[in-house]
Amino acid sequence: MSELQKLVAEVRACRVCADVLPLGPRPILQGSSTARLLIASQAPGAKAHETGLAFSDASGDRLREWLGLSKEQFYDPVRVAILPMGMCYPGRSPNGGDSPPRPECARIWRAKLLEAMPALRLALLVGNYAQDYALGRGKMTVRVRDFRHNLPRYFPLPHPSWRSRIWEHKNPWFREEVLPALRREVTDVLTKAC
Ligand code: SF4
Repeated sequence: MSELQKLVAEVRACRVCADVLPLGPRPILQGSSTARLLIASQAPGAKAHETGLAFSDASGDRLREWLGLSKEQFYDPVRVAILPMGMCYPGRSPNGGDSPPRPECARIWRAKLLEAMPALRLALLVGNYAQDYALGRGKMTVRVRDFRHNLPRYFPLPHPSWRSRIWEHKNPWFREEVLPALRREVTDVLTKAC
């Protein structure tokens, strides 16, 4: 069993947040020692909790459209890793939307998991939590607009929830300038895989 497989088995048995997760622990992640593209996301939604598959909802369809990837490409762990900041569904926030990812999760698991995936070349930082973790605190819109500053290692993106449609409408440069560059970077990193 590889180091990564051992770690994933430990993650799947994790119950650190069991007392505060409304539906209980069900860590959702994908990856391999050969994966070159990391999708550093926020936390699984209720549908992902139910299906056991990350981004198995409308947000996932939107993200795949942004990236120019089919479902087959997106869910190929040989090339693509998906690692949320909190790997279990955190429940609903009283303010609407989902609660933030459990902060324990990244502290306990993230560095070890990333270390066990040494082929990663490009990390898509999907939403503020992943961006703050990798880049320090900042404003999502500014980071996405200035995406070139963090290449070739990181590419910041909004979270692809339904709210991102309103955000896209206010920021037309995202579709005009950022998405073509994003698709080039993703294609480049994946076609050089293995
Ligand atoms: S969110 Fe992370 S730390 Fe908490 S139970 Fe799930 S895997 Fe464990």
